[in-house]
Amino acid sequence: MASSWRDNLPLETMAKERQNPPFNVRAMSIAQHGTEKELLLKEKFMLEISRDPIFYMGDVHDLTKDQLRERTMAKIGSLVHCVQNESIEHFTKRMELIGLFDPGFWTRFGVHYGLFLGAIRSGATANQFSYWMEKGVVSCKGMYGCFGMTELAHGSNVAGLETTATFDEQTDEFVVHTPNIGATKWWIGGAAQTATHCSVFAQMIIRGKKHGVKTFIVPLREPQSFQLLPGINIGDIGKKMGRDGIDNGYIQFTNVRIPRAYMLMKHTQVTREGQVFEPPMQQLSYVALLQGRVSMVVDTANTAKKALTIAVRYAAVRRQFKSSAEQEHETPILDYLLHQRRLMPLVAQATAFAFTALNLTKMFEETSASLEAMEPGPEMDRALEQLKSTHISSSGLKAHCVWQTLEAIKQARLACGGHGYSSYNGFASMEADFAVHATWEGDNHILALQSGRSLVQSYLEALEGKKSGDATDYLNDLDNVLKRKCKGGDALLDLKHIEEGWGTVTAHAVKKAGEDYQSHIKAGKSKELAFEEASQSRFVAAMVHVSGFIFRQFKQAVDRMEDKGDGVKEHLTRLAVFYGLWRMEEQGSFFLRSGWLSPADFDAVQAKVTDFCADTRKYVIPLVDSWSISDHVLNSPIGRWDGDIYRAYFGRVRQQNPQLKAHPYFEKLIKPFLFRPDIELEDYDEAIGIDDEITEIQEEREEAAAEAKEAAEAAKNEK
Ligand SMILES: Cc1cc2nc3c(=O)[nH]c(=O)nc-3n(C[C@H](O)[C@H](O)[C@H](O)COP(=O)(O)OP(=O)(O)OC[C@H]3O[C@@H](n4cnc5c(N)ncnc54)[C@H](O)[C@@H]3O)c2cc1C
Repeated sequence: MASSWRDNLPLETMAKERQNPPFNVRAMSIAQHGTEKELLLKEKFMLEISRDPIFYMGDVHDLTKDQLRERTMAKIGSLVHCVQNESIEHFTKRMELIGLFDPGFWTRFGVHYGLFLGAIRSGATANQFSYWMEKGVVSCKGMYGCFGMTELAHGSNVAGLETTATFDEQTDEFVVHTPNIGATKWWIGGAAQTATHCSVFAQMIIRGKKHGVKTFIVPLREPQSFQLLPGINIGDIGKKMGRDGIDNGYIQFTNVRIPRAYMLMKHTQVTREGQVFEPPMQQLSYVALLQGRVSMVVDTANTAKKALTIAVRYAAVRRQFKSSAEQEHETPILDYLLHQRRLMPLVAQATAFAFTALNLTKMFEETSASLEAMEPGPEMDRALEQLKSTHISSSGLKAHCVWQTLEAIKQARLACGGHGYSSYNGFASMEADFAVHATWEGDNHILALQSGRSLVQSYLEALEGKKSGDATDYLNDLDNVLKRKCKGGDALLDLKHIEEGWGTVTAHAVKKAGEDYQSHIKAGKSKELAFEEASQSRFVAAMVHVSGFIFRQFKQAVDRMEDKGDGVKEHLTRLAVFYGLWRMEEQGSFFLRSGWLSPADFDAVQAKVTDFCADTRKYVIPLVDSWSISDHVLNSPIGRWDGDIYRAYFGRVRQQNPQLKAHPYFEKLIKPFLFRPDIELEDYDEAIGIDDEITEIQEEREEAAAEAKEAAEAAKNEK
């Protein structure tokens, strides 16, 4: 069919959106990726996966669970050489991209390289690490690992896990055992079909004494035959809400014996005689926790950008209604003010998340590198203090970014109307795959509560005069911080002033949580109970703190940026202000309650947010272009770069749903349905004759009554 002007209108519309961008798009892209090197690397990986047939994703929405799992396994085979031949930095970048594009694969690969190998890296002594290297943990030759922490009846409370690892001094072995059904390892990614080994979290018992949860490497299957080893019982936990490319399973251990040296002993050591040496510094475990959360924040930023790139590009070319009969074409939905209100703040938020992720990654890499090089002493204490401060923010940060991104995916889907609901446009799987982030790597609510707990502790320390670290510096000079007020007017466009506002409001929220806690302590409650009673205000404090923290990360990134006159710094500054004010509007009750905003100031904030929505709309297409997500990675016909959405979407639907010559079940189901015979119901009345019988019964009763009456009257007359 020849193209009509109508077919080409979306292409032309999109091209116009890109005319005269107010900033240098390439420079903007570099700024958003941190460095040009990072951007080039991402572009290289995007090109590679777009040309690799194994990474074809056009049919993925129509595959069954089993087909997805098999294809995912094939990808592992194809990618494993990269692990062996690439630097960690490059490989991490590659995985970051693949996580965005194929989350099921990312998880299946990640349980081995992230969780299993990660457990060995962080928990093994140097000798143990060499041993597992020789066994093939990096090359994945002869072994593939899974991560066995969660149990059927226990998840978040790791200390309450029930699997036991009892030391047998006679044989120098640990005996790993599942004592009851609730202690069955559950959700274990890779266990059902892939893994030969598992890093098992179990209660260590020595001479009858419990020493807490430690990690043990337990062989599960004989790699050549893939037969389960003695005492191991494994099953598949089946279909999930998303990420079906990974085979989650359950594991039960029945008196499984492993050598003592299979317990990871970098931190806690157990000698041949059963003597236990605990680590001097528990805080080092922050490093491992932080790494997981940093990668989660990176993924939230990337996923939010992916969803919004699709929704924003679609909105630029999707047209509905004319405002006058003279208007040549219908209006692009992106020009409707309400549509701008729905999407533009989320664009600013995704940008803020990305800068937060960049800052956090850098900080994490620097701190963990310097920690590794340090000997215990004051320098290490300072680094650990810095780590602790970031840890406070990072747990709440993971929760907030995941919740907000889940909501952003949903809003982006809704902004695409009916086409957002088609699996081929990517939102359905994006939402289902992403949703699990709220539960794993620490359940969101629990993390938020932990963050709130640390904030309360920082507040109490501040009352005693201890200086708070960077992330909570609003607790220093608390009396003055609490009294600060918004200056209104153009001060609301000043990043520094907005930062002060967030500081004041967060200080109020943290003070409220701290006072709640103190009141329960004064009432005689234990520390744990007082924290529990204050859980709601702790949660609120954490959520307010995180919004302010993200705003600060964005502000600091912009402050550090050199102004090269290419519009990049100017527009990122606008977006940072936009983000800070929008969050202020979203969490307005706290700003009003704290007194930092008056009701009139709040109105001004709202008006400015509306202005920023219209302002951002003007350059939003070049802005999402600068996020640099290829069409292949987007895998959504309605989000494609050139705007040719209808041809692409129609093509994808036809390709995946070929018009069959013969209907698959017309003869079997539809024809018999359409031409089914009428059901002839039996005439029960005629068959049973119940109505005639009722008439007869009535007549007999009336006759008997008349006879009785007559007899009674006759008797009366005789008297
Ligand atoms: C797809 C998928 C893959 C997974 N892969 C693995 C894996 O490979 N290996 C592994 O070990 N685990 C895995 N997990 C498990 C995951 O880590 C756990 O689900 C997670 O730790 C949460 O634990 P839970 O499910 O027991 O929830 P629970 O801890 O039972 O929480 C249930 C609810 O109660 C709330 N809650 C709990 N305690 C409190 C409290 N004190 N105060 C207030 N609210 C509370 C929580 O917020 C949550 O909403 C996976 C999970 C999923 C869904």
